[in-house]
Amino acid sequence: MPQTLANPNAALSFDPLSGPDTEVRSLIRRLEKAYAALSADPKQERTCVRDIRLSEEEAKILYSEADLYSLGALAHAARLARHPGNMVTYVADRNINYSNVCVCACRFCAFFRPPGHPQAYVLSREVLAQKIQETIALGGTQILMQGGHHPDLPLSYYEDLLVWIRGEFPSIHIHAFSPPEIVFFAEKEGLSISEVIVRLIKAGLHSIPGGGAEILTDRIRSRVSPRKCTAGQWLETMRIAHVQGLKTTATMMFGHEEKAEDLLEHLFVLRKLQDQTGGFTAFIPWTFQPSGTRIKRNPESAQSYLRVVAIARLVLDNFFSVQASWVTMGPHIAQLALFFGANDFGSLMIEENVVAATGVSFQLTREQIHSIIEKTGFIPRQRHMDYRLTENPENAP
Ligand code: SF4
Repeated sequence: MPQTLANPNAALSFDPLSGPDTEVRSLIRRLEKAYAALSADPKQERTCVRDIRLSEEEAKILYSEADLYSLGALAHAARLARHPGNMVTYVADRNINYSNVCVCACRFCAFFRPPGHPQAYVLSREVLAQKIQETIALGGTQILMQGGHHPDLPLSYYEDLLVWIRGEFPSIHIHAFSPPEIVFFAEKEGLSISEVIVRLIKAGLHSIPGGGAEILTDRIRSRVSPRKCTAGQWLETMRIAHVQGLKTTATMMFGHEEKAEDLLEHLFVLRKLQDQTGGFTAFIPWTFQPSGTRIKRNPESAQSYLRVVAIARLVLDNFFSVQASWVTMGPHIAQLALFFGANDFGSLMIEENVVAATGVSFQLTREQIHSIIEKTGFIPRQRHMDYRLTENPENAP
């Protein structure tokens, strides 16, 4: 039976093998066969892994030469092999940006304000409490708490904040402080990254968001965010967090100054670290939004976004989850991403400030998210950060 929106698990009926044999066609053929074998018998994971694992050269060929449809079909096969059920998950959380004061001034950022700016803020405990209460009342399970690199807040400020949140709202999961913030805390306090993470865990931190990764090559970081941590420091922070037992996510913001080789390098350094630690739960790619920033270019097309989601699913064969980004791409492209390798619809996102600062303002209610997912033939299920389902926490999808 051909694949339809009402039947998302049926085999795709495309023929990538017509025409003369080429490197990209034989690669597609190999992967198609390997994922079909894996779907038929998931116990074969070990034997299939050598056929599924892409070399850097193969990823380059696929990303640059495969047609969009073939790339998407392969990524969907990879997604179904990894998530054979009929579920699409999402988390209900709130982005809380505790401060917009930042000394980094990244060229792609429309959110930050320099110290002393009239619009600079640090959220009070009263405002924080109200935001967390609202999140819980709306069925939210976690807060994603990040902020600018504030030059005057000591590490003890963040420790006190965590202790207070844990005391006042013991049920809420605290997903907070991206690697650049942690590196900034360490440098400011004269501590190691490891010492900072130990102290944050002791104060109540549950997991670390993968923000601030942008593109994990220093040739790009030095151009778009020269005052932010290096690619090596980002990866090292995540490695240490994983070793200390924290789960984290990984992100990629693309469509600014990177080239295809930078984007692929980003995926391969993540795959390598995941092989070593297994600590990443999800990969979340999104597109740079240029409005209000100091990088002048057009936003990425839907096609470019879907190619990246697909190649990420294929390269990151050791990642459990790939998320669609409705916040930057809008609900319809995010819906399409569910057929290009994404298995998760991201977050209900009760509040979002960073993308909104660029003027992009997609908003979805829980009912809309359910409806968007159901129209694809998948079943929406709310999850926790670690992908346990909220209704049946024993079962991960
Ligand atoms: S992206 Fe983060 S670190 Fe960079 S300027 Fe914005 S708030 Fe600061």
